[in-house]
Amino acid sequence: RSKRRGRGQITVYSREIAQEMKRATQLEQALRNAIISDAIDVHFQPIVSLSNNQVVGFEALARWNDPDLGFVSPGVFVPLAEERGFIDALSEALLRKAAEAALSWPRELFLSFNLSSAQLMDPGTSSSVLSILGRVGFDPHRLELEITETAVMSSADTAHRIIADLRAAGVRISLDDFGTGQSSLGRLRDFIFDKIKIDRAFVSRINSDRASEHIIKAILTMCEGLELEVVAEGIEDYAEAVKLRTLGCGMGQGYHFGRPADGIATLRFLHENYYDPTMAERVSA
Ligand code: C2E
Ligand code: MG
Ligand code: MG
Ligand code: MG
Repeated sequence: RSKRRGRGQITVYSREIAQEMKRATQLEQALRNAIISDAIDVHFQPIVSLSNNQVVGFEALARWNDPDLGFVSPGVFVPLAEERGFIDALSEALLRKAAEAALSWPRELFLSFNLSSAQLMDPGTSSSVLSILGRVGFDPHRLELEITETAVMSSADTAHRIIADLRAAGVRISLDDFGTGQSSLGRLRDFIFDKIKIDRAFVSRINSDRASEHIIKAILTMCEGLELEVVAEGIEDYAEAVKLRTLGCGMGQGYHFGRPADGIATLRFLHENYYDPTMAERVSA
C-alpha cells in the first residue's frame, strides 16, 4: 500500500518537474528568439551626485517585454542566458545598444553596465568589450562595469586579468551589491575597484534601523581611506537621500531620483534635469 502511494508521489513530482522543465525550455527558446530578433531593450537609471542632485551617469538595465510571456525580469533571463551559454551574445548586444544611446548624452556623463559573472570567467571578455566600444565610437573612459564579489571570486585569475586589461584601457570597475552575498573585505585590498555600490538592503533601512546606519557609516569611512567612490543604491525617498548626503555618501541612485527609462525618455530626462546648452538640439535630433 505504502509502496503504491510512494509511486503515486513520484508520478506527481515527476510531472511537476517535467512541467517546470518544459517552462524553462519555452523560456529559453523565447529568449534565444528575442536575442536573434534584437528584441531585448536597454533602459537607463540616473546616478546623481548627492551634494547637488546633478546627474553624473546612468546604469544600463536590460528589459525584455515578450509578446507571449509579458515582462520578464533580468533577474530571471540573465541567469538563464548564463546557464544556457548565450550570455555573450546577449551582453554584446546590450552593450552595443547602451553605448550607442550614451553617445547622445553630454560627454561628462558615464555609462555603467552590468557584467555577468560568467563573462568574468571568459578570457575573451576584455577584447570583446573594447572592440564594441571601438566600433560604436564610445570612449572607454566613460564606461564603468559593475561586477559582483561572487563573480571575482569564482574565477579569480581570469577575472583579475580581464579587469586589469579593461582598466588599462580606461574603463572603471565598480563593485555592485556591496554588503550582500559572500562579502569579503579582502577583495578590496586587491585595489581592482574604483567604486563601491552599497546594496539597497542597507539603504532602505537607513532611517529605521540603527545597525544599517552604522554599517553604512563604516563602509563610507573605509571607502574614504581606500579612495573608493561610493554610490548608495535604491534610494526611494527624500529622507534617505538627505541622510546619506549628511553621512558623506558621494552618489545615489534609486526611484527617488528616477526610475529606469528607455533611451528617448532618458534624453528627455536630461533635457529637463541637466544643464547643457546643446541638449535641446540633441533631443530634437
Ligand atoms: P543591479 O545591477 O543591482 O540593478 C539594480 C536593480 O535595482 C535594478 O533592477 C533596478 O531597477 C532596481 N532599482 C533601482 N532603484 C530602485 C529603488 O529605488 N527601489 C527598488 N526597489 N529597486 C530599485 P532590475 O532592472 O530588475 O535588475 C535586476 C538585476 O538584473 C540587476 O541588479 C543586475 O544584477 C541584473 N541585470 C540587469 N540588467 C543587466 C544587464 O544588462 N546585464 C547583466 N549581466 N545583468 C543585468
Ligand atoms: Mg548593477
Ligand atoms: Mg546593484
Ligand atoms: Mg542586484
